[in-house]
Amino acid sequence: MGWEAIRKRNAGAVRPNLADYEQARATFSWDAARSQLSGLPGGGLNIAHEAVDRHAAGPLREKVALRCRDRGGHVTELTYDGLRVATNRFANVLRELGVGKGDRVATLLGRVPELYVTAVGTVKNTSVYAPLFSAFGPEPVRERLRLGDVRVLVTTPQLYRKRVEQRRDSLPALEHVLVIGDEPAPPGTRSFTEAMASAREDFTIPPTSPDDMALLHFTSGTTGKPKGAVHVHGAVLAHHVTAAFALDLHVDDVYWCTADPGWVTGTSYGIFAPLTHGVTMIVDASDFDAHGWYEVLQDERVTVWYTAPTALRMLMRSGSELPKRYDLAALRFVASVGEPLNPEVVVWGQEALGLPVHDNWWQTETGAIMISNYAAEDIRPGSMGRPMPGVEAGIVTSEGGRVVEVRDPEAVGELALRPGWPSMFRGYLHDDARYAKSFVDGWYLTGDLARRDPDGYYWFVGRADDVIKSAGHLVGPFEVESVLMEHPCVAEVGVIGKPDPLVGEVVKAFVTLRADSEPTEQLRTELIAFGRKRLGAVAPKEITFDQHLPHTRSGKVMRRLLKARELGLPEGDTSTLEVRG
Ligand code: AMP
Repeated sequence: MGWEAIRKRNAGAVRPNLADYEQARATFSWDAARSQLSGLPGGGLNIAHEAVDRHAAGPLREKVALRCRDRGGHVTELTYDGLRVATNRFANVLRELGVGKGDRVATLLGRVPELYVTAVGTVKNTSVYAPLFSAFGPEPVRERLRLGDVRVLVTTPQLYRKRVEQRRDSLPALEHVLVIGDEPAPPGTRSFTEAMASAREDFTIPPTSPDDMALLHFTSGTTGKPKGAVHVHGAVLAHHVTAAFALDLHVDDVYWCTADPGWVTGTSYGIFAPLTHGVTMIVDASDFDAHGWYEVLQDERVTVWYTAPTALRMLMRSGSELPKRYDLAALRFVASVGEPLNPEVVVWGQEALGLPVHDNWWQTETGAIMISNYAAEDIRPGSMGRPMPGVEAGIVTSEGGRVVEVRDPEAVGELALRPGWPSMFRGYLHDDARYAKSFVDGWYLTGDLARRDPDGYYWFVGRADDVIKSAGHLVGPFEVESVLMEHPCVAEVGVIGKPDPLVGEVVKAFVTLRADSEPTEQLRTELIAFGRKRLGAVAPKEITFDQHLPHTRSGKVMRRLLKARELGLPEGDTSTLEVRG
């Protein structure tokens, strides 16, 4: 099927929410869009009300909100009213624990129903929901619990024992740990199920302002510790509008977001945005498996699917014939985010699924999709698309000490956004200076390099910093370096992202050993295991010993140069390179 035919098929089946891009951009206003939400009965705005309670009070009351498939294929369903009641109970659990407005509640969980109940129940109580990636090792978990001053953690007994227990003493703010499941709760924790069973079912959402903090998402930078990006209840307007425009969500959709709930996509588009549209959301707890994924698409009759380039590349590897064995006729829209989407994948989607893949762009700090390919528009394979209505983007550069927009089409510069969209982050927790530095001369600087073609489509070029994107997950090199430095044989470390055809980049470490250590295979294996034990999924997969790491004159390891050397690329500007005699 050609592009035109696919577009017609889609457009014929369901009228896209964004039928005319130019017109929508000219007429859209966030203020007017606010009428798409209900607001709290007494005024104010609370994400949980928009996502769940307002639907439970109307015709969608008995509609299935969540269909959670566990690893064994067993399904748990929650209707909108069921979700309202469960999240009321969880809000009451928090209240009984003395946890209130602004207090942080984290999850360290896979895709299980309790995660969704915790997320919505937390914001319902005006506390702040902070998801953690369950494949993180104990160090990244501790670091984030500490940075977020997390008071309540919901996790499993196994994850608690492996990732938290030994470091609990260093987390004085962590007062309550609730563990899910039927196993006896380990010492120092309480049973989630028991707490829920004894909690009341009725709960009135306290007054909530759109500017009240609702979500805390951890993200990585080049230097220093992770950053805690603060988001507010008002973000729900951007979640809702962008899911309508970029994911083309309609109330009758069966929607599946494959993003891990420990990252921002798994929250904005894996929990809140779809629920605000009253769709049925599919949650699948299994790990990636091509057969399993096609089965989910087929058996659940998924209509809108939001996934990621690494997953699509893995599906592509399993061949174009495999999807033809499944009935994917219900699927009408596929979108992807998180890393560059190769044009081949877009073309593969067309061949294998009969649908092109719509790339879109955003990041933890933006809280919602900012740039996208849209249902009613032709896709430009390889391009991230055009800015959302209500979002002003630009390519900027530094000129005479000021940040200015590059007007020259095709010129590469930093992707920047004009502040003001509702889901813009409102701070980095405990780091006002870092937050302030993100805004210069009327622009929010994203840290990505991109170019814009003459028709206004944006093309991703790379990161402006050393941050690594591995399988869609942002990895801070400093965090990895700091952990490896704790090994007694290690004197210094430089960590880079090494391009990889499947996962985008793999984490690679260059290690200088202490004088009394030998660079043996055994030590290499030991260091990889050491990293894995402490860091989990973000640990380096490759280690090279190097007794002469390049440094700047101020003594920092030059990761950029390590990367250029690894790739056999020109070394670029080395004027700050320290020359050792
Ligand atoms: P995160 O904050 O973890 O969601 O990561 C955001 C970063 O992922 C962005 O700043 C980009 O570097 C990258 N990214 C997100 N979407 C895309 C995309 N469609 N194409 C290329 N890179 C992307």
